[in-house]
Amino acid sequence: MHCVYLGLGANLNSPKEQLDNAITAIKQLSFCEFVSVSHYYASKPMGPQDQPDYINAVACIKTSLEPEQLLDLTQRIELEHGRVRKAERWGPRTLDIDTLLFGDRVINTERLTVPHYGLNVREFVVYPLLELAPELILPSGVALQAIADNLPLNDLQQL
Ligand code: ATP
Ligand code: CA
Ligand code: CA
Ligand code: CA
Ligand code: CA
Repeated sequence: MHCVYLGLGANLNSPKEQLDNAITAIKQLSFCEFVSVSHYYASKPMGPQDQPDYINAVACIKTSLEPEQLLDLTQRIELEHGRVRKAERWGPRTLDIDTLLFGDRVINTERLTVPHYGLNVREFVVYPLLELAPELILPSGVALQAIADNLPLNDLQQL
């Protein structure tokens, strides 16, 4: 079983409910075992600022699926929760599920970059993940705590 961390984000249509529903859907995934979820956090949008604040969280699961099989399922959950893919980068969305970490694997394919590149720079990913895994060492050998030590909170608020 691989230990996987998923980053969740939403800023439309009752974002907290979107995350609640995402967790429910993740708990029902085949070949996956739900482990834990962080608190929810309110964060400022990246990129376009003419959109609502985000709610973010990180969930931990164990799975026997391969990374792209899991991506198929998480993308299906996004679509089932009303995600519409638009051209605008980092535009508003009902639900985003990113694969942050897939065990110790380093993946660089057309569909997947793991660890997720946001893991080094996004406070709304790093702090919730730190809550679940304070001792985590990234595949690069860098401690997550060391990244957090140098990462501004940027108005991130634990809810
Ligand atoms: P960002 O990736 O900067 O957080 P985003 O989440 O808004 O932006 P999406 O539109 O949700 O980006 O996804 C675009 C593509 O990113 C997906 O089709 C997927 O194939 C690819 N992708 C690459 N790495 C990952 C990953 N680790 N988790 C999820 N999707 C990924
Ligand atoms: Ca299951
Ligand atoms: Ca816009
Ligand atoms: Ca994302
Ligand atoms: Ca995404």
